[in-house]
Amino acid sequence: MEGARSAEGATGRDIEIGFPTDQVLIGGAWSAPDGGATLDLENPSEGSRLAPIARGGAADISRAVNAAEHALAGAWGALDATERGRLLAALGQKVLENADRLAELEALDVGKPLVQGRADAIALARYLEFYAGAADKVHGETLPFRSGYTALTLREPHGVTGHIVPWNYPMQIVGRSVGAALAMGNACVLKPAEEACLTVLAFARLAAEAGLPPGALNVVPGLGEEAGAALAGHPRVNHLSFTGSVATGALVQAAAAANAVPVTLELGGKSPQIVFADADVEAALPFLVNAGIQNAGQTCSAASRILIERPVYAAVRDAMAARYRALRVGRALDAGVDVGPVISRRQRDQIETHLASARDRGVRIAAAAPLDAGLPRGGHYVAPTLFDEVDADDALAQQEIFGPVQVLIPFDGEADALRIANGTAYGLVAGVWTRDGARQLRMARALKCGQVFVNNYGAAGGVELPFGGVKHSGHGREKGFEALYGFSVLKTVAIRHG
Ligand code: NAD
Repeated sequence: MEGARSAEGATGRDIEIGFPTDQVLIGGAWSAPDGGATLDLENPSEGSRLAPIARGGAADISRAVNAAEHALAGAWGALDATERGRLLAALGQKVLENADRLAELEALDVGKPLVQGRADAIALARYLEFYAGAADKVHGETLPFRSGYTALTLREPHGVTGHIVPWNYPMQIVGRSVGAALAMGNACVLKPAEEACLTVLAFARLAAEAGLPPGALNVVPGLGEEAGAALAGHPRVNHLSFTGSVATGALVQAAAAANAVPVTLELGGKSPQIVFADADVEAALPFLVNAGIQNAGQTCSAASRILIERPVYAAVRDAMAARYRALRVGRALDAGVDVGPVISRRQRDQIETHLASARDRGVRIAAAAPLDAGLPRGGHYVAPTLFDEVDADDALAQQEIFGPVQVLIPFDGEADALRIANGTAYGLVAGVWTRDGARQLRMARALKCGQVFVNNYGAAGGVELPFGGVKHSGHGREKGFEALYGFSVLKTVAIRHG
């Protein structure tokens, strides 16, 4: 990609984006959206206008679905699984080569510190590598059946898949959903988030450079209630993958239901990390804090609740508090920043409302990171805040705040830990820190969530590991081979041959 420049210490205005951002990609061609309207992206580190994006709508979505169907009937549909895998591998290589550039775009657009954006770009490349290798390894079976018959199953693509993604991890979420859908031979229509989508647009350009046939991947930016709703409700979309809030997920599921279309929902969370008294606290500490403040807490699997067994409560709290006080909050492109801004003024106001109401209720603060007076006035900065001895039923411990806010909750023994951990509407991730092997297994089985991490949190991204939620965190699984099963349909064939 053109336009890369060193970003260290720079402000957003010093970086060139290097491609037109106000277009939709349909059938392999970039063009203005129907009607030509645009929306503005903002640089959250400065509060300044960053770039225009297309305000796609229903007409663009219809054209994109047509283009996807055309690709399935043409060059894309004609490729075999090995050839699809090769294209994904080539795309993964391009992403790796452009990782620094993608990290800069993510920093400008999402406000994500460079080191975190770079990790997302590497994760995107890993998804593409994984699904490149897996594309020709998903197979049906022959089934024992009556004599005189041969019965078998075939795995086939759904056809046109719709992908609606949020702003917080555009690269990772596109990698896990679009990567898997393409591997199985679907043609994708992708609606990125209106708050941040530069890396999605850059990725689509890299896909064309890698040789992806026209129409295999179509991208229509726009507002959720316009382009998003049109995609969710389109009668010729055969599968929907949605990542975002619970409320929007319900709308998407309702739209899918009207067309009897399967839908994967990756929604929010209020995930706990549980620290037992026998845990290796030194090993746990970086995970306890990082999982709360990474991407300024705007992570579906953020560990927003830290449950600590009472004998070690004070020691863990004090060690976490010390780390909080040392956090550096700053512009995403500055060197050495731990926490960037949150995505928007609206998001910041919502978080500040939670913080103010907790203070009014008298919830004690264990520590807050300092905010430098020299930060840009227009930027959306929130001081990372750690709350002490929070009641498990308090709003801070029940609602997804989606900001750099963690609550500490003391507990007494395994049963109490489970009651608190399972006591929210969500069920995405849980972390368990204990040296007791039997307890590790008991906890892993009893926690009501999609994934449990024992003596780690997040398994370093683990693209190979299925991911998804239960309860209000959603349903269906992405990542790993499970995503390939989700992005395909099983067909049964029974042949009577005598
Ligand atoms: P959101 O639901 O507002 O937006 C997500 C996407 O949906 C955006 O692309 C948006 O344009 C689109 N959208 C909005 N209204 C729509 C409609 N009526 N029809 C169709 N599409 C519509 O979510 P958000 O606030 O941007 O993202 C934050 C939420 O996402 C949090 O709850 C977070 O936990 C969740 N999330 C979950 C995961 C996961 O893997 N489980 C990952 C990242 C984020």
